[in-house]
Amino acid sequence: MHELSIAMSMIEMASEEAARRGGVQVSAIHLRLGPLSGVVREALLFSYEVACEGTPLEGSQLVIEDVPVVVYCPVCLGERTLASVQHFCCPDCGTPTEQVVGGKELEVVALEIEQ
Ligand SMILES: [Zn+2]
Repeated sequence: MHELSIAMSMIEMASEEAARRGGVQVSAIHLRLGPLSGVVREALLFSYEVACEGTPLEGSQLVIEDVPVVVYCPVCLGERTLASVQHFCCPDCGTPTEQVVGGKELEVVALEIEQ
C-alpha cells in the first residue's frame, strides 16, 4: 500500500529527528496534504497508526492540514482556489484551466515534541 510506505518514511524521519535532539518524544507530526497528492487521507491516518507500533513514535498523532487546489487563470491573470476538484475551471470567470499551482502538497511542516 502506497500510504503505508509514506507513513513509514515519515515515522523514520521523525524518529531520526527525535534522536538527533537527544531522544525527545514526538507527540505529533503535522502534515500538509493536497487533494492532488494522490494520497488518501483516511488510508494514511490508518497506516500511520499501524506503522507507529513498536517505534519511538508509538502513541503519537498524525495531524493533517488540508491544502486547497489552486490554479492559475489565464484570463484573470491570477491564482484562484478551486471550489471542487471535479471542475478545473476558474471560479471567477469559468475559464477552464489546467495550470495547477497548488494542491499536490505532501509535506511534513512540524513535529510536536512532548514537554
Ligand atoms: Zn478567471
